[in-house]
Amino acid sequence: MHTTPYLLVQAISPARLDAVRAAGTDGHGNQLSPFAATGSGEPLRCCLRYAGPGEQITLISYAPFDHPSVWTEVGPVYIHAARCAGHTPTGRLPEQLAAGPRVLRTYRADDTMNYDHNTVITDEADLQPVIERLLSQADVATVHVRTLAPQCFLYAVTAG
Ligand SMILES: [Zn+2]
Repeated sequence: MHTTPYLLVQAISPARLDAVRAAGTDGHGNQLSPFAATGSGEPLRCCLRYAGPGEQITLISYAPFDHPSVWTEVGPVYIHAARCAGHTPTGRLPEQLAAGPRVLRTYRADDTMNYDHNTVITDEADLQPVIERLLSQADVATVHVRTLAPQCFLYAVTAG
């Protein structure tokens, strides 16, 4: 019997963001500078939805890996300026960020990039079946979902 796999979607951890907000800096030399969202497409990495107009958000530099790794890439992400409800795993992709266009980066269990399975989605396709297929590969443990043109990190997915 086929059952839909549970996908564990990982937003940036609230504890890591609490530390950034408390310090007032992102750890990459940038001071936090909150501003009102335009609501025209700022994806929030704390709760994995788009900001509404007027919500207080801020832009920080962030690296998905929190351990030393040559695969670390630091890039810009929007977060709520203050702590929010965060993301509650549902087993599915976050509703507002579940379709292309996206870049899907594949990593092995040791967090090295698996170039063979990196996938570019150029249209508005549903990402769920593509990510399920990638995670079914023996040598893919994690998929990083990124925007297409700017290639900013959105969220990580593992098989739950
Ligand atoms: Zn948030």
